[in-house]
Formats: sequence, C-alpha cells, structure tokens
Amino acid sequence: MDDIEFPVVSDDDSVFPRNISDSVCPVCHKRKLGEGNETAYIHGGALLLEESSDGVEKANLTESLEGFLFFDWNGSNNASADFELALNVKKGQFSINFCSTTCLRKFLNSCVDKLEENIELVNNA
Ligand SMILES: [Zn+2]
Repeated sequence: MDDIEFPVVSDDDSVFPRNISDSVCPVCHKRKLGEGNETAYIHGGALLLEESSDGVEKANLTESLEGFLFFDWNGSNNASADFELALNVKKGQFSINFCSTTCLRKFLNSCVDKLEENIELVNNA
C-alpha cells in the first residue's frame, strides 16, 4: 500500500479513489469498484443542523463545513504524532472505497502502521 498518498481525500476531492466507477480497489488492485460491485467503505463527515420553518431540525449538506479524519497519538512524555486521512474536505463529507471488508481491514491496519511509523520518528528525534 506504499502507493497510497495521504491524505486520500482533501479539498474538492471527497471520494477515494477519485473516479470510482473507473477504478479498481486501491488495496488489491484487482476488483472493480462502483455501481453493481461489492464495496466496503469509510463514509464520514458532518452535516449542518438547521431548523426549518415547521420547527423540525434537519441535517443538510453545506459549503460551510470542512471534513477531516486524523489518526493521532499522544505519548506519556507529551510527545505526539499524527497523520491525516481526510483533510479540509469541502462540504464536510467523504468516502474511501474498497472492494471488500478484507481490503478495508488491510487499509485500516496500514493506517495504524503509518501512525506507528510517525510515532517512531517522534520517539527517535
Ligand atoms: Zn480489494
């Protein structure tokens, strides 16, 4: 998974891989993604709660939000390490797609590996 650059989603690029219907899984590079294909995905972000004229609160997409998802670590010596999986995503929502839960699990494990690499850099600085 060394070919994946982080953050995988940022700014106006809220879907990873970017053109999902023409993409294969970013982990196994074998199975197609997109409509009609099995997909396991991380879908995150925020919605703006607004009260409508009838007094009911509704959650809406808005240009006023930016989404993020960080992996963070704090050491007992006040050291810290992190990396961004999603950064400054416009409209606040993003999705990160894989062909299966197996590939999703491998990706999440690689995220923890990357965090541990950054922790090691901090601890050896
Ligand atoms: Zn896959």
